[in-house]
Amino acid sequence: MTEAYITLLTNNSYASGALVLAYSLRASNTTKQIAVLVTGAVSHSIRDRLSAVFDAVIEIGEINSHSTKNLKLLGRPELGVTLTKIHVFNQTQYSKVVFLDADTLVLKNVDDLFDTANGSLEDEDRNKRFAAAPDAGWPDCFNSGVFVCKPSYQDYNGLFEMATQEGTFDGGDQGLLNSYFSEWSRGESSNRLPFLYNTTPTAVYSYAPAYQQYKDKLNIVHFIGSFKPWQWLRFADGTVFPRNTSSKDSITLVQQWWNIFDRYIGGKPSDFQEVSHGY
Ligand code: UDP
Ligand code: MN
Repeated sequence: MTEAYITLLTNNSYASGALVLAYSLRASNTTKQIAVLVTGAVSHSIRDRLSAVFDAVIEIGEINSHSTKNLKLLGRPELGVTLTKIHVFNQTQYSKVVFLDADTLVLKNVDDLFDTANGSLEDEDRNKRFAAAPDAGWPDCFNSGVFVCKPSYQDYNGLFEMATQEGTFDGGDQGLLNSYFSEWSRGESSNRLPFLYNTTPTAVYSYAPAYQQYKDKLNIVHFIGSFKPWQWLRFADGTVFPRNTSSKDSITLVQQWWNIFDRYIGGKPSDFQEVSHGY
């Protein structure tokens, strides 16, 4: 069966991120499919741009208290966005998926990720069919911006049930996924991806010598936090305008994001951030 990279757009504002990610995957010469999950809030014109580079643009219904009869969801509107990411586990047309947040950038071919998470769906230990890299803020938790999984109704329903019954301890998908795959940190090493597959430049500087030592080995960069590469200002020559809180290294990585943007997309990110009118 087909294997695919999947990212997610819950609105138009991350569209340039998803596009840059897709072009960075193409530039890595991947042999896998590339798909994007979009909610009804993503506009027609943006779907057209996505179709030019993604193999599949897949509409997913938003799961929230208005769209489901599940009584447990009533009065829990904050679960909406969290639940949207678990749609990845419902994409059973793919045998294995590497999920990437729309704010990630692929620097090298990472198709070897599809060799991880080999546990079967019958296996009682669900942690074996999931792989992710540690979160820099709490390394016993994984960061949910990059993960490998085998889509199945079993895990999709399991995640849905857990979300509606227990909620999520951080208010987002990362808390829920860490509760569901709770044995991740004690699991087999093949399910624990190196940090180089989900390097978060905003957090990595607490160990700056390690960054100097390993920076040439980065595979995937993840621009976590509220200020994304497409929001950076630039000089007329295209170089990014350094923010006073940013290190030299993170400026270099944001510049790499922009280089992909200029090379394959062009224009301005705001061209992709038109107001959503629904669908
Ligand atoms: N997302 C989106 N629109 C939003 C917020 C989030 O499409 O307004 C999607 C997108 O794929 C994004 C992911 O949900 O990468 C997780 O959110 P974000 O990356 O902002 O979280 P962080 O990694 O900063 O914790
Ligand atoms: Mn992210």
